[in-house]
Amino acid sequence: NKNRAVNFSAGPSMMPYPVLLKARDEFLDYQDSGMSVIELSHRSKLFGDVITGAEQKLRKLLNIPSEGYSVFFMHGGGTGGFAATYLNLMSSKVVRDKQRKIHNQGKTLKCGYVVSGIWSKSAYEECVDLGGNAHVVVNCESTVELDNASDAGVPQIKKGYFDLPPTEKWDLPPSDELAYIYYCDNETIGGFEMNVDSITSAVDTNEVVLVCDVSSNILTRKFDVSKFGIIYGGVQKNIGPSGATVVIIRNDLLVRDSPENQPAGSPTLPPPPGIPSVLSYYYFSSKGPMPHTPSTFSIYICNLVFDYILENGGIDGMEQLSEKKSSLIYDFVDSNPSIFFAPVCKRYRSRMNVVFNFKNQALDTLFVNEAKSYNIFEINGHRSVGGIRVSVYNAVTVDDVLYFLEFAKKFIAKHC
Ligand code: PMP
Repeated sequence: NKNRAVNFSAGPSMMPYPVLLKARDEFLDYQDSGMSVIELSHRSKLFGDVITGAEQKLRKLLNIPSEGYSVFFMHGGGTGGFAATYLNLMSSKVVRDKQRKIHNQGKTLKCGYVVSGIWSKSAYEECVDLGGNAHVVVNCESTVELDNASDAGVPQIKKGYFDLPPTEKWDLPPSDELAYIYYCDNETIGGFEMNVDSITSAVDTNEVVLVCDVSSNILTRKFDVSKFGIIYGGVQKNIGPSGATVVIIRNDLLVRDSPENQPAGSPTLPPPPGIPSVLSYYYFSSKGPMPHTPSTFSIYICNLVFDYILENGGIDGMEQLSEKKSSLIYDFVDSNPSIFFAPVCKRYRSRMNVVFNFKNQALDTLFVNEAKSYNIFEINGHRSVGGIRVSVYNAVTVDDVLYFLEFAKKFIAKHC
């Protein structure tokens, strides 16, 4: 469609065009109700079918075990998840029982964080702010020297998250001293994508609850849900419009600690943190899927996107596409080493957010601006790091990427 911008935004981001068309066509009159979907009561049967359908499709796509895991569509986005994961786990029976075992030794469970970028660092800081016993298990932050020099002949240094140190260098407490371990599967700003294997090679997830932020790569590759305690993410990148937050949680973690379920003679712990209902997983599990008004429009579009993904090869289809789209751009960047620098080490390069910069930094802004005349938008890096970031979430097509590369080749022919 010629009127559509080629939009590489990091989120909210491009939606599949067929989904937009369907939403447009039924916007004024949803299934002959005489109402728009945004006018439906969340208690109506029509909306009930939307949210149940969305949950079933998500379960199918991610192969979420029908027994043992719950799925919620909550509010709060990725940021809400920073607090929700900490608050809910610290008041769960699983974690409190673990604390009881070490309490008499004068120890307090640590909340372990793998810091691989700005979002996992923010989650760590949130835990600190909330009074948690936050502990950095490994911090990937480092500096690299760009192999160019400034006009003054001084090497240019870039600070960021580029590699994961080997597990021998992690400051990993013993399993019985960890409340949970938290990591972000894809760091959207730095373009640093890990994999659960990076964590499970060091941590036994039967002993330690694994928490993962999948805000920017959910539904782009398979993963084994059974390794995780909590998987959560805002939907506004690979699934739908901002609003809903998907939470997938192992059911044993939904049991709250209470005086009745403590063995006789167990140590008395300080009270757990309070949890606002809107962030409480227990509230969602005990009061049904909609204890309060959900983001109805966001969930409605998510449901359409799930259909779209199921019709387009499911997770396997998205995985192949993600690999292809990101490789096309990285190959272009790598084949011009005198012009570009891609700071993240190859093993951890994100398939979602392709981050690089021009060695001649003045060209970054020119590139972003000239792209606009080609109808290409949002390729600037995050405001905190600069450079270029091309986000290729599920709705971005291979043709969009090829079109971007056509522009990029013309640009370097002209300016480099
Ligand atoms: N985690 C990740 C990986 C993100 O990319 C973002 C936002 N881009 C967040 C958390 C914060 O999410 P939100 O803006 O929905 O609060």
